Amino acid sequence: MLSMPMSIRFLGAARTVTGSKHLLTLGKSQVLVDCGLFQGPRELREKNWEPFPFDPLKLDAVVLTHAHADHIGMLPRLVKQGYRGPVYATPSTIGLCRISLPDSARLLEEEADYHRRHGTSRHADPRPLYNEADAYEAMKLLKPVNFWQFQQLPGKAQFRFMPAGHILGSAFAEIYFENGERILMSGDIGRPNRPILKDPTPVDFAEYLVIESTYGDRNHSDQNAAAVLERVTNQAVADRSCIVVPSFAIGRTQELLWYLTQLSEQGRLPHIPVYVDSPMATATTLLYVDDSEDLDQELRLDLREGRSPFKQDFVRFVRDRNMSKSLNDMEGPMMVISGSGMATGGRVVHHLKRRLSDPKTILLFTGYQAVGTMGRALIEGANEVTIHGDRVRVECQIERLDALSAHAGADELVAWCKGFKEPPKRTFIVHGEPPAQQALRGRLESELGWAVSIPEQGEAADL
Ligand SMILES: [Zn+2]
Repeated sequence: MLSMPMSIRFLGAARTVTGSKHLLTLGKSQVLVDCGLFQGPRELREKNWEPFPFDPLKLDAVVLTHAHADHIGMLPRLVKQGYRGPVYATPSTIGLCRISLPDSARLLEEEADYHRRHGTSRHADPRPLYNEADAYEAMKLLKPVNFWQFQQLPGKAQFRFMPAGHILGSAFAEIYFENGERILMSGDIGRPNRPILKDPTPVDFAEYLVIESTYGDRNHSDQNAAAVLERVTNQAVADRSCIVVPSFAIGRTQELLWYLTQLSEQGRLPHIPVYVDSPMATATTLLYVDDSEDLDQELRLDLREGRSPFKQDFVRFVRDRNMSKSLNDMEGPMMVISGSGMATGGRVVHHLKRRLSDPKTILLFTGYQAVGTMGRALIEGANEVTIHGDRVRVECQIERLDALSAHAGADELVAWCKGFKEPPKRTFIVHGEPPAQQALRGRLESELGWAVSIPEQGEAADL
C-alpha cells in the first residue's frame, strides 16, 4: 500500500525552552501540536510577531499538550489570523486555558498601553499581540478529549492523551498515522512520586518520539520541601515575620498548599495565616479540586471524602485588590503566596516593594529564576532593585525551595525512556537549552543506543 507522505516541522521550542509548536503533515492535512508563546529575551519575543510559517487557514486541527503559556499562548494570535478548526485538549487543560488566555491577553494589552502612555516602545503606536476578545474567540474552538479516549484527526490519523504528570490536565499526545505507525509528543514531562498528580504514564513503544529536555543535564535537589517550610514558618512565628512567596499560579501554589497541609496534619506547622494573593492561583486551585483522571489516587480519595489539601482554615484566598493592598499593612507572622513566580509582575511586586527593605521579611523562592528577572537579581544577591521606578534596598532574608519542579530531572527523563521495550526509529529532542539537549542526547545514545536528533528552528523531518 502506498501511504501518504508524513513529516514533522519544528516551529518552536527548538534549541530553546519556549514557543512550542510542532507541525505534522499527514498527507494533505496539517495538524499543529501546541501553539506556544515565545517568552524571555527580546530576540525570542520578537518571533511572536512573525507570520506563522504555515497558512492558518489551511491548518486542519490543533492538539494542545497542556496549558502553560509556552504551549498555548499563541492560540489567540492563530485565531486572529483566521484559524477556525478544532483545538483538542483535556478538560482540565481547557479549564486552565479559560483562566490563563484572557489573563495573558489582559497583560499584553496593559503592556502595550503602558508603552503608549510612556513612549517607551520602539513603535509609534504599540499594540498588543492579541487582545481579550481574540482570547475569547480562541476559547470557542476548544474541544475536550478525555484521557485515553481516541479522537479522529484529519489525514486519517487519530490520537489519544495520556497523563504526563506535569501540571493539571497535562498530557502526552500519542498520534497514530494512517499506516499504523505512531508518534509520541511528550509535551512537558512531570516527575514521578510527587504529590497531587499521577506519575507520568509509562510508555513502552512508539515509532517516533518528540521529547522535552528542560532538565536534560541536571537532577533536582533532594532538599526536603516540608523541612524547609517547617523551618521558615517557625522562624516567622518567632520573629513575627512576613514570608513572601513568589509562586506560579498553576501547580506550584497548589503544591505549596499541599505541603503546608501535610505539616499541619503532622502537628509541625506553627499557627500562621497563609494568604494566597492571586486571582489566577485562586481560580486554578478550584480546578484542582474537580475530580480529574490525572490526579493522584490518594488525592482523589480525599476529595471524594470531602477532604481537600487546598482548603484549610489557615489559608485565605484573596481576590479583592483592596484586600491585597491591606496585606501590606499587616504585621507578621504571616505568609503571602503571590504571583508571578519570578517576580516579573503581578501582585507579588507590591508585596516586595513594601517588604524587601525589612530585615524581618523572609523571601522564599519556589522555582527556577530566569536570567533578566527580578527574582534572578535577588537570588544573586542584589543590594537594591528598582520597582515602579523607585529604588528599593534589599535587607530581607532570602530562602530558596528548589525541591519543587514540574519537570522531570535528567535521571527521571532517562528512566522514563528506559520504559521503551524497543528504541523509537527516531527521537527528536526539543524544549531545552542546547547544553541540556546535548547531555540528554549523549545519555540516550550511550545508555540506550537510540538514534537521536536535536532539530533546529524550522527544521523538518520525514516520518
Ligand atoms: Zn509546561
